[in-house]
Amino acid sequence: MAWRCSGVSNQDLISRMVQAKLILTPSVKSAMLAVDRGHYSRFKPYEDSPQTIGYNSTISAPHMHAAALESLAPFLFPGAKALDVGSGSGYLTVCMAEMVGPEGRAVGVEHIPELVELAIKNTQKDHPEFLQDDRVAFHAADGRVGFPRDAPYDCIHVGAAAYELHDKLVEQLKAPGRMFIPVGDKSGQAIYVVDKDKDGNITKKKAMDVWYVPLTDVEHQRHQ
Ligand code: SAH
Repeated sequence: MAWRCSGVSNQDLISRMVQAKLILTPSVKSAMLAVDRGHYSRFKPYEDSPQTIGYNSTISAPHMHAAALESLAPFLFPGAKALDVGSGSGYLTVCMAEMVGPEGRAVGVEHIPELVELAIKNTQKDHPEFLQDDRVAFHAADGRVGFPRDAPYDCIHVGAAAYELHDKLVEQLKAPGRMFIPVGDKSGQAIYVVDKDKDGNITKKKAMDVWYVPLTDVEHQRHQ
């Protein structure tokens, strides 16, 4: 049913997702309106489907970006620090930066250096001021170990399917904090929402079934 949300402009796409109740939170709506997908996808940016960005990678479908931001919204408050693992096009990292505001920070980690360059180029077209004031930063690194230099994070988004929850990521969550992570392989994947409460207790809830590219190593991805 997600295809019904496809639009002719960024504003149209977001309005359709609001009508379909895929976007409920005002801060998610305003972030997705402020970040124009047209700067992040060369192909059909306003269609509600994933699109190739090269290197066996995709920009996720708009309804999945909406689902991630809706889930993480309580942890994307002004001044919060967010980590986006597998930042690809940079779109979601910039949405997170929009939500955490000038006092906050969104860090994107991507293991294909060419995609780090692409994310920076895309952000320069859309929100160059976020790069200038360091509200958003992109790094080439293996995101399976998080990005310890800037940890801990109020929330972590993982944009590729992991084989496991990766302890290092859970460790880098603040208490309280939340991680949105697809887990699984070719036989099936689901989103898990991992919550760390203020005392450090971990709970995980299975949300929806999904299909993401794998969280893997560079060689494996380049030669798929
Ligand atoms: N959320 C992004 C990209 C989703 S595709 C967007 O919507 O644009 C998932 C991304 O994860 C790909 O760009 C892929 O290169 C990256 N990735 C896969 N394994 C990784 C790893 N171990 N470390 C960092 N990034 C990884």
